Amino acid sequence: MSFKDLKLNRPLLRAIAETGYDSPTLVQQKTIPLVLDNKDVIVSAQTGTGKTAAFALPILQALFDKQEGSKQGKKIRALVISPTRELAVQISENFKNYSSYTNLRTTVVFGGTSIEPQKDILKKGVDILIATPGRLLDLHKQDLVNLDYIETLVLDEADLMLDMGFIDDVKKIERLCPTQKQTLLFSATIPYKVEQLANTILKSPERIEVAPNASTSKNVNQLLYFVPKKSKIELCLHLLRNTIKGNIIIFRRTKFGVAKLENTLINNGYKVDSIHGDKSQNLRQEALNNFKKGISNILIATDVAARGIDINDLDAVVNFDLPNVPETYVHRIGRTARAGNTGVAYSLCSADEKIYLQSIQQLIQLQLDVIDEHPYPLDPKAKKEIHKTPGKSKHKKGRKSVASKKKKKRWY
Ligand code: AMP
Repeated sequence: MSFKDLKLNRPLLRAIAETGYDSPTLVQQKTIPLVLDNKDVIVSAQTGTGKTAAFALPILQALFDKQEGSKQGKKIRALVISPTRELAVQISENFKNYSSYTNLRTTVVFGGTSIEPQKDILKKGVDILIATPGRLLDLHKQDLVNLDYIETLVLDEADLMLDMGFIDDVKKIERLCPTQKQTLLFSATIPYKVEQLANTILKSPERIEVAPNASTSKNVNQLLYFVPKKSKIELCLHLLRNTIKGNIIIFRRTKFGVAKLENTLINNGYKVDSIHGDKSQNLRQEALNNFKKGISNILIATDVAARGIDINDLDAVVNFDLPNVPETYVHRIGRTARAGNTGVAYSLCSADEKIYLQSIQQLIQLQLDVIDEHPYPLDPKAKKEIHKTPGKSKHKKGRKSVASKKKKKRWY
């Protein structure tokens, strides 16, 4: 199938050709006709499947076809809600690329950065707005965003949005838009709470499922190192010195882990950047740019911060911590060995992670290649390390105040 078969118009086809896409991906083939037909849809597809273009292209086509005289002043007619700032920026870049031969205007608004420039652009008028929930509601409260003319609302990465606690904001935003509108919901997974949300805001939606990729590319050499937890940093340094070369992403489960490893690697003379949920927007963007430009060749990230970010074509992926969700493993290592290249995935597994390893190997139907020859082997009989006597905490019960519990920080 070609993009022409999807009945996309000339300005879009021209932009797509310049972007270098040959043919539509599966999610695009399935979604574009339904969106053009003005249907509500629920799409379960992971990042990397081409899902952004699956909603961006038909939205642009519909807005292009219904353009009013340009003198009237532009009204926001399509709204895309995204949970993270980086994703929002990426989505808006896609819209801008695909619409380069139209006069449709896109802008993006997100928190953690000055509101003034965003106000100025909004005042000039845009057709498509990409936003993170909090900043959008802020701008709406200040009467700087009018959602009365929204024709299509997109909720991207709905599962992540709910995980991050945006459910009430999302519902509020939906209510601020006209009742008569098309709603598109995209989510990597469809857990019960996403289903519930879809039931309340979508009208007779069509469902599209692009099977989660459970298979890993044959071009990725998947190596496994059993190592005591306390020796992981030493093993990582050993591998970086002797084995791993090129552009590398290292995944850790928590932002604390990311920061700790980053310090160690910097102290050992490596050019490292990192992204996690506690970094300001500017710092995260700077880290990504540094990595993309080659100023640093190692990026350390949490899964949540890296989700949806367009960093592919890596030489190696290091699973410093094994993910507790097996699909995450597939997603992580899918960032290497793109387009026929080869790549290597290094997984460091401590005694307490063997259970995660089991479910990963079950999902991918493959046993990872165990590398025994390294200086920090794990005693095969080593059990999960237990830090406290069961039932007995060395801390006084309830030592945390209610206030400190409320201030509980994000871990990603
Ligand atoms: P997404 O899943 O939207 O994050 O897209 C993942 C990557 O695939 C992005 O780098 C897109 O530019 C790229 N992409 C989207 N559609 C196509 C296509 N039809 N052919 C080739 N690459 C594509």
